Amino acid sequence: MGAQATLDSAAAAPRKTEPKTAKPGGAAIPYATITDTFSLVEATTKRLEILSLVTDLFRRVISRGGGPTNLLYTVYLCINRLCPDYEGLELGIGEGLLVKAIAQSTGRELVRIKKDLEAKGDLGLVALASRQNQPTMFRMQALTVPTVFHGLKEIASASGSKSQDKKLAVIKRLLAACAGDESKYLIRSLEGKLRIGLAEKTVLVAVAHAVMLERGAAEDELEAGTNVVKAVFSELPSYDIVIPALLEHGVDGLRARCRLTPGIPLKPMLAKPTRGVGEVLDRFDGQEFTCEYKYDGERAQVHGYTRDGRLEVRVFSRNSEEMSGKYPDLVAQMPRAIRPGVDSFVVDAEAVAWEPGADDASPGRLLPFQELSRRKRKDVQADNIAVRVKLFAFDLLYLNGEPLLHLALSERRRMLREHFVPVANEFDYATHCDCSTTADMQVFLDASVSSGCEGLMVKMLVGPDATYEPSRRSINWLKLKKDYLAGTGDSLDLAVIGGYYGKGKRTNVYGAFLLATYDEDLETYQTVCKIGTGFSEADLEAHYALLHPLEVSKKGYYDAGEAKPDIYFEPRVVWEVKAADLSLSPVYTAARGAVDARGISLRFPRFVRVRDDKAPEETTSPQQIASMYRAQATAGTRESLEDDEYW
Ligand code: ATP
Repeated sequence: MGAQATLDSAAAAPRKTEPKTAKPGGAAIPYATITDTFSLVEATTKRLEILSLVTDLFRRVISRGGGPTNLLYTVYLCINRLCPDYEGLELGIGEGLLVKAIAQSTGRELVRIKKDLEAKGDLGLVALASRQNQPTMFRMQALTVPTVFHGLKEIASASGSKSQDKKLAVIKRLLAACAGDESKYLIRSLEGKLRIGLAEKTVLVAVAHAVMLERGAAEDELEAGTNVVKAVFSELPSYDIVIPALLEHGVDGLRARCRLTPGIPLKPMLAKPTRGVGEVLDRFDGQEFTCEYKYDGERAQVHGYTRDGRLEVRVFSRNSEEMSGKYPDLVAQMPRAIRPGVDSFVVDAEAVAWEPGADDASPGRLLPFQELSRRKRKDVQADNIAVRVKLFAFDLLYLNGEPLLHLALSERRRMLREHFVPVANEFDYATHCDCSTTADMQVFLDASVSSGCEGLMVKMLVGPDATYEPSRRSINWLKLKKDYLAGTGDSLDLAVIGGYYGKGKRTNVYGAFLLATYDEDLETYQTVCKIGTGFSEADLEAHYALLHPLEVSKKGYYDAGEAKPDIYFEPRVVWEVKAADLSLSPVYTAARGAVDARGISLRFPRFVRVRDDKAPEETTSPQQIASMYRAQATAGTRESLEDDEYW
């Protein structure tokens, strides 16, 4: 379909009125422009075709004018978000409310909608069919991108006692104005997943391509420009800031305009797993590297900036969520660790549960992760805190107006020590040792484990490979956990998507669970294993309480393979699990096609803990599972040591 044809297809839909003009200088984009592209994207699996469809959509939006808002809203609707992650406004409306809205806006009975849902497994399709069967009495004004975006925002931010009613009213209003395929995508957006196979990575590349092409760039300039946009975005992951800058100035100078900014969390650098001291030494042979304790807590990106003469401190999680409400004590402690002359900073650190010593002579001790995970995630009252938290800083990413990412770790560490001071029971630098022999490393590893750490992080210290690489799982950072050494391998973080009713005395709870990995390219969950061991009775009861409200009537967009749980859940909960090893499986679908036509499964999986610092899209990925499988097959070689990039 040609560009113009798609853009104007809203006119082809049975509507009475044309969309209103939005801002001076540009017309509001019809919502149908986006949903037409969604249909085309959904109909193909070819990555390049998807990229070109979305680029084409963005080009048409840009050429309509109207300032950055039109493109910004379009991008947000494509990635199904409403604002940057750290602002915490999320879609994901429960099935019950949506079923009610569809029933009320189409005049159909609730039971019939539920029956359709059983049969079709996709509420978007149910909404579409319900609308199509509805006699049209009068035509509403056609939906536009701003109307839908603001409607979704209104729904997501509704709070208070009447919030369900408010949400219902807006959903009904939007549904009533839907034409063509719009209701299908509107409902899926509200559910929190578009399921058209459009990954955010592709959207970012499409934005870069569209802006460059609209500014007259040649095809052979696209790759370099896109790399600039990706690098900028992993440092400053905010479309609100990057898109207006791109539209106004293009790619040239974008790096200087959009830099790491305190208050906006960057995507953290991640580490590759290794299987032993030998492998680490192989990797860093002849290079200057450093070993640090790997603390067993929660990643904390601590930002500080001065506003109206006062230092504000904010803490962000590994997945860019604001955690200042969980750690009011950290926020209060941080200023005491800062030397005079610091007015803005970003420190990368681990927040660890801590037991202070009885007096100044006894230093206190590290407590395991579980102690911290008992804390509420929000609105913790400082005077109500049972377990203290101590911050162990391992990196300095920004200081006094300047990003430091391009500097070598040796330099960043020097500046960290120059500008921040240890405070008893509150703040310290991560313990490190710049050792270079197997024997030294082994001694340091043992020391780390006996003081309550998980093992070591080994990092490139000097030279161009020692920079901070946001959003990358890089071979310049390796993790060496005590568990790998015991031969049990790394653990996996997996989403809980299904449950099996218990037997015997476990009939009131689920006795086993279906776990899955999220494939972000295909936007689907692939099953990995059934797990029924490692749970105490109390665990099972707690899991039931958490998971029961997440039950959904159909597997929806899960790629479940031959797995047949009694019930499916919305993907909200992530668990860390361990296994004896990985094996190929005709039943489960994880990483299917990566190493074999069969999927990869876990043998003898065991529950370790709940990972409430990870979103369900942040499970161990199918690619990582495939490389763990390969690494197991090629144990002792370095085949698995390649960088993974987020963008
Ligand atoms: P990943 O973050 O690699 O996906 P994960 O969240 O399960 O996996 P781990 O495999 O335990 O985490 O290892 C990486 C994490 O270790 C970091 O994200 C950080 O929270 C923690 N960590 C502890 N000490 C350090 C350190 N000295 N340097 C870097 N990270 C550290």
